[in-house]
Amino acid sequence: MSRDKRYQQLLNAKEWQHVKRIVWQRANGLCERCKSEGHITPGVDCHHIVPVESAKSQQEMEQLAYNPDNCRLLCIACHVKTHKEMNSHTAETVKERRITRQNRWEQYMRQRFTGNGSGHRESDDTGG
Ligand SMILES: [Zn+2]
Repeated sequence: MSRDKRYQQLLNAKEWQHVKRIVWQRANGLCERCKSEGHITPGVDCHHIVPVESAKSQQEMEQLAYNPDNCRLLCIACHVKTHKEMNSHTAETVKERRITRQNRWEQYMRQRFTGNGSGHRESDDTGG
């Protein structure tokens, strides 16, 4: 995964320092994820809930990057965990979709080959 150059520029800007301070103050300097789970851990990283890389334009990128509501203060462990979850989630969705497609194909083929032609009937007349 290569990070966008523009993203780096956004994070080097003065505005980002400002946003980080707002987020840090809002969270009282504590990891917001740990806090929600009942742990007290110093927060060090600002995590973007909606990934800045997902923006389609420079303007949209700035809106995502500099919006304190789109940020969560996290400790390093939680930041790593959160990103892993995001990645595994998308990977799982892709895998699932692929399996569904394969199943549908198999079902279609099976129906084609077993649906017609088997006209064997058992009709036995044993009148007693
Ligand atoms: Zn944490």
